[in-house]
Amino acid sequence: MQILANDLKRQYGLHAAEYEAKALEVLRGGWYILGKEVEAFEREWAAMVGARFCVGLASGLDALWIAFRLLGIGAGDEVIVASNAYIACVMGITINGAAPVFVEPDEYDNIDAAAIEAAVTPRTRAILAVHLYGQSCDMDTIGAVARRHGLKVVEDCAQSHGNHWRGRVVGSLGDVGCFSFYPTKGCGAFGDAGCITTNDPDLADRARVFRNYGSRVRYQNEVVGANSRLDELQAGLLRVKLTHLEEFNAERRRLAARYDAGLRGDTLRKPRIRPGADSSWHQYVVHLPGCRDAMAAYLKEQGIGTIIHYPIPPHLSQAYAYLGHKRGDFPIAERYAAEVLSLPMYNGMTEAEQDCVIEAVNRFVPDKK
Ligand SMILES: *Cc1c(COP(=O)(O)O)cnc(C)c1O
Repeated sequence: MQILANDLKRQYGLHAAEYEAKALEVLRGGWYILGKEVEAFEREWAAMVGARFCVGLASGLDALWIAFRLLGIGAGDEVIVASNAYIACVMGITINGAAPVFVEPDEYDNIDAAAIEAAVTPRTRAILAVHLYGQSCDMDTIGAVARRHGLKVVEDCAQSHGNHWRGRVVGSLGDVGCFSFYPTKGCGAFGDAGCITTNDPDLADRARVFRNYGSRVRYQNEVVGANSRLDELQAGLLRVKLTHLEEFNAERRRLAARYDAGLRGDTLRKPRIRPGADSSWHQYVVHLPGCRDAMAAYLKEQGIGTIIHYPIPPHLSQAYAYLGHKRGDFPIAERYAAEVLSLPMYNGMTEAEQDCVIEAVNRFVPDKK
């Protein structure tokens, strides 16, 4: 049996007729950028998140850097972020000239919130809480540190659509929530898309102006903005996806529970979920100390695809050589980069496929050296 790490055709196939009807409706409508689909999607996404405002943007990276730009965070400022975060999280900080200050993850693969305070300096302006793999960060501790030091909290919810921290949906728990709708994300578009959520009317208003060349009235430009508009086709299709988000998340929770029950725990460590947190299971990430690459190679031989999220921690990326970090600076992130493996996980995955993965993983015997 051939099993892909992720198979986007499966999720599409679950509701193909609805996507196709909406796509034709938008194509035939003759209005393609920032229109009634975008407005409706913004309303519906804000309602799902439980935030007052949502502003559609062109990508998740744009959501991050535009959020920091509008919060006035740039050169000379520091932003705290997990050392095992995705590179885009760090780029969202550095595009504006601010410096990332890395804090190591804990056993839940998210930032160790108890270690944040020690990283605060007089230059710290914000904490970027990245809800990695679908699991929410410890937002109570993060919120408390932020309040003590007057810091902004920006949530990166790209992997955590519709997920909760203590019953509240992520993206409503900080000053700004940043979302990517890249096709692989929980509520994925059929191309690039993103948005921010916020309760701050001024910030939402400035984001709406900024995304369209800094223009509220055509050819009148208030600020130097960007072109980060959401198109009608993506917004329309995202509205369809959003009506199924709970069903998608429930299916992934069911798949995660089957992995939890079926996988033997002697060579691998299963994902841990923090008390108070939920996971939307964007990825099912196991830790395989000392045998990750051997496991990935073994599964590949069996026709099973896997992915590593992520093989190079941002501080060791060539892009961030200028920060001057070296191997050993963030040993937990470095260790995680060497031991994490994402098993196949997608909407529309069959139990037979999952059983095949579980059996193959359980059959693997690491070399005893
Ligand atoms: C996907 C992702 C992004 C970037 O989103 P794009 O839409 O690809 O720009 C940012 N942060 C995290 C955690 C992501 O997973």
